[in-house]
Amino acid sequence: MPLLSDHFARALPEMALSWQAEPVQEPRLLVLNEVLAGELGLDPAWLRGPEGVRLLVGDHAGVRPVAQAYAGHQFGHYSPRLGDGRALLLGELVHADGGVRDLHLKGSGRTTFSRGGDGFAAVGPMLREYLVSEAMHALGIPTTRALGVVGTGRAVVRESLLPGAVLARVAASHLRVGSFQYARATDDVDLLRRLADHAIERHYPGVEGYRGLFEAVIEAQASLVARWMLVGFVHGVMNTDNMTISGETIDYGPCAFMEAFDPGTVYSSIDHGGRYAFGNQPPIAEWNLARLAEGMLPLFDADQDKAIELALESLGGFRSSYNGHWLKGMRAKLGIPDVPEAPALIDDLLALLHKNHVDYTSFYRHLSAAARGNTEPAREVVLDLAGIDAWLARWLPLGPDADVMDAVNPLYIPRNHLVEEALAAATAGDLAPFTELLSVVTHPYVEDPAHAHYASPAPQDFGEYQTFCGT
Ligand code: AMP
Ligand code: MG
Repeated sequence: MPLLSDHFARALPEMALSWQAEPVQEPRLLVLNEVLAGELGLDPAWLRGPEGVRLLVGDHAGVRPVAQAYAGHQFGHYSPRLGDGRALLLGELVHADGGVRDLHLKGSGRTTFSRGGDGFAAVGPMLREYLVSEAMHALGIPTTRALGVVGTGRAVVRESLLPGAVLARVAASHLRVGSFQYARATDDVDLLRRLADHAIERHYPGVEGYRGLFEAVIEAQASLVARWMLVGFVHGVMNTDNMTISGETIDYGPCAFMEAFDPGTVYSSIDHGGRYAFGNQPPIAEWNLARLAEGMLPLFDADQDKAIELALESLGGFRSSYNGHWLKGMRAKLGIPDVPEAPALIDDLLALLHKNHVDYTSFYRHLSAAARGNTEPAREVVLDLAGIDAWLARWLPLGPDADVMDAVNPLYIPRNHLVEEALAAATAGDLAPFTELLSVVTHPYVEDPAHAHYASPAPQDFGEYQTFCGT
């Protein structure tokens, strides 16, 4: 058992409340990330044993868990006190890459931040976070990781009774935009400064001053959200408490991958206004960063007007950074060099995909086939044949590089119908479909003819997909 450090709790005691996980009588390990365990210096065989499994539910003498305090805007409305209502930070470990990682639990019982919630989580949603976060990692997108899921044997009350589980999550940190909002709201500038110093030390050791930190977060988020947009990922609940300072994707709740291309795509049952629709994610990220700026204002300048001016100047960098990352990513998806006609070509393609309800993921692999001389797969999925032919006639002369395309366009993503099928089976006690899907989506780029059905969009009878927050 390696020692976990408690740097966060010692640096920011005002935001770390000592707490214990709810005891679990008969913990049962459902899935363990052996590779990640090894990278963290944890012996997978030990983790599978009784003592290791107890660590994964927070029941170990070697840890001093804390519930972290944070605030946040949820669907635009400010809550001064959110915090870990069903989660605990066990402590920090050092990864093989030399960086520090949080070991954190989700579903570990009520805390002082639980409000009306029961503090628990069900097997389905915890395996869902495991699956989607590991798929995102395999896609090369910054994300929190999943170390393991342990079944608690406890029944959790949702629309029905569901088997309970605890997810052990690993993150660069759990500092959020909402952490800064919380510190700012205390009016304790010393706390705010210590929080910013902690964030700099942990994530951006090279930056100059607090504006340097703010601009580093802007850059990390611009790059992250561009990556989401390139693969069709809809986070679903981009509240400011679900946006990290590190630039990792966090909190996989109602998230889902878009199938037919449509910027208006919304999956979450509670997102009535489409605030967190696919196409709204870049402006929402910018909005969240403006909330971060408000939280950090006293650190920019003692004079508030001057501080606002500086914050706006930094914030102005978000759009060009986002556009740059996205355009570069789209050019790679289309295998084309930096030519003046690229932006128009991209816009026209997306309009064509939208109008023709084309599956966003598989289409790029059809295009790489076209780059290799076979235009049939791409022509087959676009009803407007004249439209796709005209577009191909502009794109093919640019000499698209099919290998570049295949290296960035995944074949296998966690498709909603497959995820639902795997989670339903797991909830009923059969982990086989989950294990199989996990192994497919964690090797997203390499074609395996045996996995053809994992690459196809949902059948018509799957219908409109909805995800739920009551996870
Ligand atoms: P989330 O939507 O998962 O980001 O959670 C938003 C807030 O609600 C956080 O403060 C969570 O800790 C809290 N929360 C979510 N689910 C529960 C639950 N079942 N019990 C207690 N608190 C919860
Ligand atoms: Mg959250």
